Amino acid sequence: MRPRLDQWRPDAVHAESVDLPCLADVDVVVAGAGAAGVAAATVVAESGRSVVLVERYGFAGGAAVAGLSGTICGLYLASDRAGGPQQVVRGFTERFRAALAARGGLTSPQRYGKTWTVAHDPLMWRETADDLLTAAGVRVLFHTAVTGVLMDGDHHRGVVVESAAGRAVIRARRTIDASGDAAVVTRAGHATTFGDHGVIQNPTMFFRLGGVDTDAFRAGYGPDSICTPELSERILAARAAGADLPRQKIFAFTSPRPGELLVNATRLTAADGRMLNVIDPEDFTEAEILGRRQVRAYARFLSQNVPGCETSYVVDTGVEAGIRQTRTVVGAERLRNDDVLTARKRPEDGICRVPWPIELHSGDRPRLHWLLDDYYEVPYLSLVPATGEDVIVAGRCLSADHEALASARVTAQCFEYGHAAAMATLLSLEKATSYRNLAGSDVRSAMTRNGSDLE
Ligand SMILES: Cc1cc2nc3c(=O)[nH]c(=O)nc-3n(C[C@H](O)[C@H](O)[C@H](O)COP(=O)(O)OP(=O)(O)OC[C@H]3O[C@@H](n4cnc5c(N)ncnc54)[C@H](O)[C@@H]3O)c2cc1C
Repeated sequence: MRPRLDQWRPDAVHAESVDLPCLADVDVVVAGAGAAGVAAATVVAESGRSVVLVERYGFAGGAAVAGLSGTICGLYLASDRAGGPQQVVRGFTERFRAALAARGGLTSPQRYGKTWTVAHDPLMWRETADDLLTAAGVRVLFHTAVTGVLMDGDHHRGVVVESAAGRAVIRARRTIDASGDAAVVTRAGHATTFGDHGVIQNPTMFFRLGGVDTDAFRAGYGPDSICTPELSERILAARAAGADLPRQKIFAFTSPRPGELLVNATRLTAADGRMLNVIDPEDFTEAEILGRRQVRAYARFLSQNVPGCETSYVVDTGVEAGIRQTRTVVGAERLRNDDVLTARKRPEDGICRVPWPIELHSGDRPRLHWLLDDYYEVPYLSLVPATGEDVIVAGRCLSADHEALASARVTAQCFEYGHAAAMATLLSLEKATSYRNLAGSDVRSAMTRNGSDLE
């Protein structure tokens, strides 16, 4: 039977009067320890404010680590010109990039079409985040999920959390929703949108392939991480012969580990062809099972068709199928498709540069729209929900049109959205004012002083 989303109620608890133990009473609670949550919690705590970071898994990293998306995209300009990569995003992104590189957890830039990206080691990503969070003095609660919100009228007063130990509340003067899924905002009943009129991008199960002769692989596969049209033709031929290879344009990156590739190849839709709505656990379960099966099919294809992969084996898949998109908030402002297509700069209120193309994963091959030698900027108010007080989002659930989000969601930017949410939170606490009343220019200036490249 088809899963039914209306069998679930998203807003589990709404309560100031809730009768649960209080685990902490802090300045800021951050929901989710992906790129955005790690950045937000670290930067707020470094200012001396008290912070609790709540994460349902036992490690930080979110889509980048649990989903094994595996590369930090969005650092460099795209260009048709010859020459090396030109980095245009810094701030917290650069701090994290440098710390990960210093551990040996990052490759040098690799070609991705007209731009560049860097691949990371997912274990070292976790360790880098552990070190930054603990050094900053963040109280981290792994294996704990946010299940409800504490509201006082329209004001957020903290969250309800659940772990193996039971349920409790965390009271906080400000809440940063860095859950990727807008878990806090949704539970508070604020408006969200879901993809393009309910249609989201395909999930993908990533995998790592070991035992690869990477020199032979590069020589055969080519210098670009996006596969050649010839390899796509071979995938089509294998599909015609019955192999389960629904996506013909695949991406493969050498990883920081010797003899290993990170492979982005699968395309997950339900057995009956419909879109998988991964907010629904029944669809998410189907994505996981299909994903693991498809990984085996692509690994088999690579070992039989690509030089260097003859004796390769699957090291592991993502802890979860990679989710590109679920809910996005309805913000006080929205990043529009046109802002991306016209490379709109926001000298007043831009909080992050984005040079990454629109990368839409639907149909049998991803579609790319490049921004050449240019970038656009994301407005501050796209992080602020249109309704609700004392709450801000950070990361891929920012307010953005469907195609715009297909560019703005990558990891380099998610770090900086976390940085922006942290700076806005500090200003909002210091001035005792709402997020909505803050000037975007003040957030931008604070970020610039803290290392962001926005001038
Ligand atoms: C298939 C795929 C391919 C991608 N490819 C790339 C790529 O090549 N390069 C790139 O840069 N980016 C890529 N991305 C995008 C990028 O990985 C993500 O958009 C980015 O990492 C999102 O960061 P985030 O912090 O906003 O959210 P997330 O990484 O989703 O983090 C959210 C965190 O919140 C936690 N959480 C959620 N709900 C709760 C709750 N109720 N209680 C407690 N914790 C909760 C989650 O466990 C998670 O750790 C890809 C994404 C996917 C899915």
